[in-house]
Amino acid sequence: MSNLEKEPPEVELDSGPRATDSVDILEPRDVPLGGPRAMTVRRTLPQRHRSLIGAWCFVDHYGPDLVADRGGMVVPPHPHTGLQTVSWLFAGEIDHRDSVGSHAPVRVGELNLMTAGSGIAHSEVSTDATTVLHGAQLWLALPDASRHTAPAFEHYAPPAVEFGGATIRVFLGSLAGRTSPALAFSPIVGAQIDLAPHASVELPVDAGFEHGVLLDTGSLTVDGEHVPAAHLAYRKPGSGVLRLEAGRDGARLLLIGGLPFGESIIMWWNFIGRTHDEIVRFREQWQTDVVGGVRDDGRFGIVAGYPGRPLPAPELPGVRLKPRG
Ligand code: MN
Repeated sequence: MSNLEKEPPEVELDSGPRATDSVDILEPRDVPLGGPRAMTVRRTLPQRHRSLIGAWCFVDHYGPDLVADRGGMVVPPHPHTGLQTVSWLFAGEIDHRDSVGSHAPVRVGELNLMTAGSGIAHSEVSTDATTVLHGAQLWLALPDASRHTAPAFEHYAPPAVEFGGATIRVFLGSLAGRTSPALAFSPIVGAQIDLAPHASVELPVDAGFEHGVLLDTGSLTVDGEHVPAAHLAYRKPGSGVLRLEAGRDGARLLLIGGLPFGESIIMWWNFIGRTHDEIVRFREQWQTDVVGGVRDDGRFGIVAGYPGRPLPAPELPGVRLKPRG
């Protein structure tokens, strides 16, 4: 997915202020993905008071949307740097193409993990067979030591494991005795958890991790704190147990977590870097090499098989932004 905000702000992200209570409820904001019948996503990260949960730096949640009404997902080739994209669906199917030659469907309950590293481009289009689109896209910031790694694409279909009244699919890291083989560059966890009606589980988690719980459907408390639908509950590090309790409709949620990232990053449009100049260079290379068609062997490469033009980058802010901190 691409950040299609018209004037994306350049923000320096850090771990933000600490909550006084152990659970903070983060509200989603609606962001249109662009186009005349554009679908809208609910963004819970980054936001003013919380930019990162471990290395997780971007959480977009969408649907269920009727493709006939909302146009589905049509995101032309666009670049990324310094991050991994995690695509996860509850309904529908998306056709993924990227500049390392991958052409793969994103399917319900299966991880598509794209490592941008030094630079990649990809397109995402919901398939013709998709009538309802419902899912999430999350980004992971790469630590400084790994952010120039070679771009790559990986697919993993995690088995569903039962844990108390929960059904758990671990797509990154380890949880409930399962470990995902998918490549992560910092200590993290990511899982879909389905709770039966009135189910209550005490999940053993890494006490050093901060965690986020995105409620997709149903009703839920996290450590006794009510979580409204489509909100992201943040819990700071310190406890090795995470308590989840569903209401009468059960609950479906995404659990994300990780060691506090400990680095400041700059996120602008679809790029993550460390300095303003670096972001400017990424943008220029995309605009010249790919949008301008000057070369197909540059930083981002070329997405083969997409029937249309790549997305031009938005204008940078008119002033040179200084790092905040
Ligand atoms: Mn993208």
